[in-house]
Amino acid sequence: MKPLEELYNQLSGPQNIVITFHQKPDADAMGSGLGLYHFLIQLGHNVTVISPTNWAAFLNWMPDAQKVIDFDAASQNARAKINEARWIFCLDFNTLSRTKNMEDALIHSMADKILIDHHKEPQTESFTYGISNPAKSSTAEMIFDFIEESGNDALINEAIAQCLYAGVMTDTGSFRFDSTTASVHSMVARLMQTGFDHSKVHENLFDNFLENRYRFFGNTLLNRMEIFYEYNTALIVVPQQDLIRYEIKTGDTEGLVNFPLSIRGIKLAAIIIDRGDERKSSFRSKGDFDVNTFARKYFNGGGHFHAAGGRNTEPLDEVVRKFKAAMKENKATLE
Ligand code: 5GP
Ligand code: MN
Repeated sequence: MKPLEELYNQLSGPQNIVITFHQKPDADAMGSGLGLYHFLIQLGHNVTVISPTNWAAFLNWMPDAQKVIDFDAASQNARAKINEARWIFCLDFNTLSRTKNMEDALIHSMADKILIDHHKEPQTESFTYGISNPAKSSTAEMIFDFIEESGNDALINEAIAQCLYAGVMTDTGSFRFDSTTASVHSMVARLMQTGFDHSKVHENLFDNFLENRYRFFGNTLLNRMEIFYEYNTALIVVPQQDLIRYEIKTGDTEGLVNFPLSIRGIKLAAIIIDRGDERKSSFRSKGDFDVNTFARKYFNGGGHFHAAGGRNTEPLDEVVRKFKAAMKENKATLE
């Protein structure tokens, strides 16, 4: 993987560029994608943002979110854009498999693939250029660095600021996690100079849910949560029937796993959701328990030290059994 600096003197447009990120994008994936979009269009490029799958409604306020192509819903159009692209920016993921049904289109594309990501153990052989830095708070921060280091600070506008702020704010747990460095706050200070309304970003992301989501949370915390005090572990198991009953949409389950993590003494919180086509799990931890390794080892996943996820094709019961066995195997580190 060649360093990003080699791109700086090739940045002037016009070129066909695709920007993509991991499936079921969160605010960091979508925010860094659209932030980069609003930068590159100012350089005269022809830029298309493609999401591998659909996304949560709470991301639709981002400037030009309506222009993002959903690969699952419009794959022919998306494939045409990928075939025409000279560059494909791959944001907020470390392996191409995180782009789900889009993976083969990316593998067969002749474009130079550019990785900008902060997850551990990147598949560097898949990318021509790139940077992977797990010490970074968010991919949004890395897009900010890319703009700054390529000498384009003057192009930071309100649209870029809104998108990048959403990414860094959510990926740092509202500026709470260890990854919230002095440079994160300096970046936010620079973004604030554009005059964007940061309170509105919080409101758009967090105060726009429907009643059913909270009915679902209530039911889940009451009936679907089990605490294993011996292992300082909490597990939530969501059967598919709950998703149907409460009309749960993409994004509605985000944040649910943080509730049990805030119980005194809990070091590991897990949620396993039966999405029908797969069992999706999320892991969060406090202290010295590394959920990235845990998710990789048992759940075909990965992520960060304190936040990771995975997916399994086995039935729900089997994944739950696997989780409990893994928890027992890790007793020494969980105590
Ligand atoms: P979440 O639990 O919110 O889906 O994800 C937490 C973190 O783990 C995110 O940084 C996300 O990118 C990563 N992650 C989630 N699922 C997977 C997965 O299946 N594979 C890998 N490698 N990382 C994942
Ligand atoms: Mn991220």
